[in-house]
Amino acid sequence: MKERVLSGMQPSGYLHLGNFAGALKNWVRLQDIYECFYCIVDWHALTSNYAAPAPIADYKQDMLLNFIAAGLDPNKCTIFLQSEVKQHAELHLLLSMITPLGWLERVPTYKEKQTEIKDKDLNTYGFLGYPVLQAADILVYRARHIPVGVDQIPHLELTREIARRFEFLYGQGILVEPEGLLTESPKVVGLDGRKMSKSYDNAIYLSDTPEIIEKKIKTMMTDPARKRKTDTGDPELSPVFALHKIFSSSEEIGRVAAACKTAEIGCIDCKAILIKNVLKVLQPLWKRREGLAKSPSVLKDILNEGNKRAATEAEKTMEIIRKAMKLSKITKAEIDINHAFMTLKELLIKHYHDEGKVKAEAAAEAEKTMGIIRKAMKIS
Ligand code: AMP
Repeated sequence: MKERVLSGMQPSGYLHLGNFAGALKNWVRLQDIYECFYCIVDWHALTSNYAAPAPIADYKQDMLLNFIAAGLDPNKCTIFLQSEVKQHAELHLLLSMITPLGWLERVPTYKEKQTEIKDKDLNTYGFLGYPVLQAADILVYRARHIPVGVDQIPHLELTREIARRFEFLYGQGILVEPEGLLTESPKVVGLDGRKMSKSYDNAIYLSDTPEIIEKKIKTMMTDPARKRKTDTGDPELSPVFALHKIFSSSEEIGRVAAACKTAEIGCIDCKAILIKNVLKVLQPLWKRREGLAKSPSVLKDILNEGNKRAATEAEKTMEIIRKAMKLSKITKAEIDINHAFMTLKELLIKHYHDEGKVKAEAAAEAEKTMGIIRKAMKIS
């Protein structure tokens, strides 16, 4: 049996080359080694975009399309949408009961993002609880391995601490303590040399046309000391070269570096080679996307199937957790064991039957309201 991997991505923007080379390519590789669950974490996207949720629907669609076009195979891995598997929300709530505030306030990204992101009010309960939701995403699948970048290690450590606290309170052997799967994934720089990110307006998107990509790369910064073509350059100071290292062949990387140092080629030539190579990497992805666009029901079916598979697995864990936290009522088998007298048993069964009916009616009423709330927050 393969060990389980879980990873998620926030649909808070269109996917870019950084997401592709830094995460998605690795996911494609892992699907052949592990039992992988890949989640589009749209509730996470709401933690910082709650005030303007409308574009999230488009981002989700773009993400799913690119997941499949990049090579994720629904026959090898489970691709699903967080908000369609309600067990994540239930476990998030339960874990929030046991997570000390201090643990969350100490997570480095909490303060960093609050200082960094000036145009959003992130002083919310949901934003502070982001790592608890992430812990729920992981623990609900009893996933063993979590592909992480170095910046994600504190979040994973928190998940491990929450799991340990849960087991200290409610019993051992219920959860699986996850481990980071530190895979070598490159940090992709953006047009301005900083990390490529949708928040920095420096990204090349997988949905950009070849013309736009060409235009973007042509305007990229290079070694600032190289003003004329005849000046020799230092490739390590140029973000164009940083992208060569990811998208060009080793032979071409060597050639470009040498030619830059001797001023044999200028920055325009160097960019032309990069443009050719980036387009070559993206061509097969675009081709598959074109095919998928012709049959939109395929994507819908993949997600529906993935949601179902994920919910089945998540529910297995939740049944154990509810029992451990004394939330679930005793089962019929337990009634049989505990109540030998037929009359008493019948009474109990009737009681549970009636209780079931009342619960179903209450759930139907709650679902009516939730339908309206999801629409208003652009989740459905
Ligand atoms: P984000 O878009 O920041 O939610 O990231 C989604 C995934 O893409 C995460 O695994 C990130 O580590 C990865 N990622 C995002 N931007 C980059 C980048 N510039 N270079 C490498 N990986 C990235």
